[in-house]
Amino acid sequence: MDFWTTIGIKWKQWIFYPAKIEDPMVDRYAGVREHEGMHCAQFAKYGLLLMGIAYTIFPLPFLWSGRWWIERGPYLNDIRNGRRSVESAADVLWKYYGYPYSKAKMIKWFNDNLDAKSISREGAKDESD
Ligand SMILES: [Zn+2]
Repeated sequence: MDFWTTIGIKWKQWIFYPAKIEDPMVDRYAGVREHEGMHCAQFAKYGLLLMGIAYTIFPLPFLWSGRWWIERGPYLNDIRNGRRSVESAADVLWKYYGYPYSKAKMIKWFNDNLDAKSISREGAKDESD
């Protein structure tokens, strides 16, 4: 596995990280830990069944998408923290999450939900996770 992911039940969650990473607790991974931590909170709130149903509902780019619903909050947080630009978040979601929602609508949602005082998008760095 070469990506971070989270699975859980209401009372316990597990974050998995790529085998090549020696120490997932170093500062370099603080942002991705925060992202996965948001998924832990989702598992704690909604439980495995609802999260599993949401995640496995296949790409419905113009209707409700479980993957988009799960990922939009953590990716918005990544954008706010400077880990990604709006465009790169939409690109990653489009490319690695099975076209979860219309790209234009993802970009619009991120822009609509960013604070006016948010991070400079030009300065956002891009790390793969
Ligand atoms: Zn995520």
